Amino acid sequence: MDINLVSDTVTKPTPEMLQFMFKAQVGDDVYKQDLTAIELENKIANFFGFEAGLFFPSGTMANQTAIKLHTQPGEQLIADKWAHVYNYEGGGVSFNSGVSCCLLDGNRGMITAEQVSGAINNPEFYHSPLTSLVCVENTTNKGGGACYDFNEFKKIRQVCDNNNLKFHLDGARIWNALVATNDNASNYGKVFHTMSVCFSKGMGAPVGSVLLSDKVTINRALRIRKILGGGMRQIGYLAAACLFAFDHNIERLIQDHQRAKELADLLKILPWVSVVEPVETNILIFSVQSSVDENQLMEKLKQKGIQISSMGHGKLRIVTHLDYKQEMHNYVLETLKKLKL
Ligand SMILES: *Cc1c(COP(=O)(O)O)cnc(C)c1O
Repeated sequence: MDINLVSDTVTKPTPEMLQFMFKAQVGDDVYKQDLTAIELENKIANFFGFEAGLFFPSGTMANQTAIKLHTQPGEQLIADKWAHVYNYEGGGVSFNSGVSCCLLDGNRGMITAEQVSGAINNPEFYHSPLTSLVCVENTTNKGGGACYDFNEFKKIRQVCDNNNLKFHLDGARIWNALVATNDNASNYGKVFHTMSVCFSKGMGAPVGSVLLSDKVTINRALRIRKILGGGMRQIGYLAAACLFAFDHNIERLIQDHQRAKELADLLKILPWVSVVEPVETNILIFSVQSSVDENQLMEKLKQKGIQISSMGHGKLRIVTHLDYKQEMHNYVLETLKKLKL
């Protein structure tokens, strides 16, 4: 067995997806002649209730473009302390946009309108950086796949409107949030100024993200994407993978969530586990008893063909995904049950 539960980014395209990619109609997207990319951008914008979309090679580049769109050097954005844009984008916030971050102590990666309201610098007080943007994540990555209550987004947007701030959603795992909460996707366009989505995580595409916004903003994003080196040519092959994922791989995410819950339920009764964090989607975070060495645990599992990852401080992470099938799941449950530590 070779079972990789390190991330949902490890999935490989299926033969059906590859077939669909091969058949894509392509053109030079820098000249806006790639019909498949245009189809994807329009379809996803329409689905989430936005006017326009723009294809990106990574979620990071889509987020970084959004931050650049909404800020000027010297300004400040507000995000949760665990935010991907702050922790996992290589310091791009300061490198690309010259912006600092005001980090909030949220709950499992989620922040509230009240917290945001309290973190905005007085724009008259010129000693402090001007607050110009709020970034949130749904689902949260480091927060363990937690999902926001959509009403909180509405409240944060109200705070943004009252204080002249922009509101960006890092929706790398928005698909997981949609199936877990049954939120109406088209409401997202009413609440966010920009939103990024990924197809290379639970959706199973090899590459691809889309940034969504109004037409004027997406036109500005086109220039920033060019500056960052993200203007690409016959991207229809990649866009086709995203279209295929959109049409086939959303509803099945329920299975990933179910399997993550089943793993959590088992871990809760194992003697070497101390804490299992709540599982809402496909990410499961748990801690081992202080007597257990997490590296040794990971090594033992690896010898049995199962890879999981460490978050440090005795915390471990399991992420379920498209390539984690039922027979693998049965094997992992059995292996965990029998494991002696
Ligand atoms: C994966 C991820 C991204 C994008 O990462 P890339 O590696 O650039 O695709 C952005 N935000 C969150 C929360 C993520 O989990």
